[in-house]
Amino acid sequence: MDRRSFLKIIGAGTVAGALNPLQLASCTNTKGSGGTRFRQLDPLDFDVAVVGAGAAGIPAAIAAARGGARVVLIEEDTVPGGAPVDMYVTFVCGDPRVGIFNDMMQELNRRYPLKGTPISGFGKYGWTGNYHFWLPSAFQTVVCEMLAREENITLMCGATVIDTLTHDAGNRTKVEGVRILRGYNTLQDIRAKITVDATGTGLVAAQAGCEFMYGREARSDYNESVGIEKGDSQPQHCTLMYITQRLRRDARLPFDKIPRWDALEADFRWIDAKDDPQAMERRDAGIFLRWGQSVVCPDTLDSIAIAEAHGEILRKIQPELDALHDAGFGVHLAPKLGVRECRRIKGETVITYDHIAQGTMPDDKIADARYSIDSWGLKDLPVHLKQVPPYGIPYRAVVPLATEGLLLAGRIISGTHIAASSYRVQPICAAIGEAVGTAAAMLAEKKIPVREIDLRKLQAALDAKGLFDVYKNSDNH
Ligand SMILES: Cc1cc2nc3c(=O)[nH]c(=O)nc-3n(C[C@H](O)[C@H](O)[C@H](O)COP(=O)(O)OP(=O)(O)OC[C@H]3O[C@@H](n4cnc5c(N)ncnc54)[C@H](O)[C@@H]3O)c2cc1C
Repeated sequence: MDRRSFLKIIGAGTVAGALNPLQLASCTNTKGSGGTRFRQLDPLDFDVAVVGAGAAGIPAAIAAARGGARVVLIEEDTVPGGAPVDMYVTFVCGDPRVGIFNDMMQELNRRYPLKGTPISGFGKYGWTGNYHFWLPSAFQTVVCEMLAREENITLMCGATVIDTLTHDAGNRTKVEGVRILRGYNTLQDIRAKITVDATGTGLVAAQAGCEFMYGREARSDYNESVGIEKGDSQPQHCTLMYITQRLRRDARLPFDKIPRWDALEADFRWIDAKDDPQAMERRDAGIFLRWGQSVVCPDTLDSIAIAEAHGEILRKIQPELDALHDAGFGVHLAPKLGVRECRRIKGETVITYDHIAQGTMPDDKIADARYSIDSWGLKDLPVHLKQVPPYGIPYRAVVPLATEGLLLAGRIISGTHIAASSYRVQPICAAIGEAVGTAAAMLAEKKIPVREIDLRKLQAALDAKGLFDVYKNSDNH
């Protein structure tokens, strides 16, 4: 990264981030509900506000910026990246790997392959037939640099959205931006013509009063041909990911102590206890990504319940870590517990199992998708469909009911629990994000309601970026 780009990241946080004297002069003190005093900074105005710099939010912000919008990308962590950076979800599954996401994958392969040299024949669409993962720091560097190259993006990290700015517009609630908490007692309103909720939790939409789904629906709720008879509030299980690394040349993975291996070699394939340890030592890079242990979090809307689940899993996983250490391996545990599922916001349509199983390509398609139905930890669902055909994500699934000025991106879009278990993976979240960012720039430019977008024009713009290319020729991935 050159010095100018570096300054732009820091500077973005500084321009929009630090207290300049003018802003300080106009700070007001506000009485919080608990009697706490808050400082309120002057509001900032943008065309598009994207909340969440994860798999969906990053391409959403970049696409909106390239569409000519002045964009703010708001992230509560101190760096962008989301799941690969802080939950160590550094593996990508599902298709298509297109557009901005594919650019990121190609750059990861070129600069940071764990093999040490770029993977030859890394497919046009990021698929070689082998599996790959990259280090969290590689994701962090690549996404920081990608964002710094975009003149129209102000990146605000360390900013937690705590509320949504709304006003009552008759039968719909108009979303006009978000309120952030910066520091411990400073509030600021970020106003935007279009707000994109890419939080992975659906917080922005929920604060705007949107209806949301949580846990598993009964199959009759959305007329699905499979599913459970009676809905419950069970989201997918959470997993603590880790990366383990050989410290001694002769170290062998302790297959006898850790019987079940959901792990990936640096640059090759899944491993299991049947693997010949000596062959592995000769071949591999000595570094493995492992889906550590999973835990049931009873309420992924509650940060304290998540923290308790994290504590529980740390206790559960300790014997495994000790076994690895005794066998000559070091372990890098992900800093955050991997939470797969939170709110799904109800939109103008709800994507169902049957939409996916039938490979539906809706008339208002904005993204292609393909990944198995994979509800982690909840295999008691009477379905685990591996052979999923390509299907389309409808625009109506990113438009939440009863609101104006708000779009959804990523895993929170409108779909049932079973459907979401397929489109939740990173390439699909990113394709949705890029489409939503493109739409947001068009809407902001024309100042039109989200339901009045020119869908054909949007689809033509997405097609021109190559986002629909993969399934035009089915052997192309
Ligand atoms: C354990 C685990 C394993 C997985 N395995 C795979 C896999 O192998 N392959 C694969 O492709 N996918 C995998 N996934 C799924 C994938 O990582 C996620 O579904 C995907 O990252 C969702 O993208 P998103 O952009 O919707 O949300 P996220 O990636 O979660 O991004 C949301 C961002 O919003 C920020 N944010 C949230 N709230 C606020 C707020 N109030 N204010 C400001 N910022 C906020 C968050 O900090 C985060 O950076 C896995 C997920 C988990 C948890």
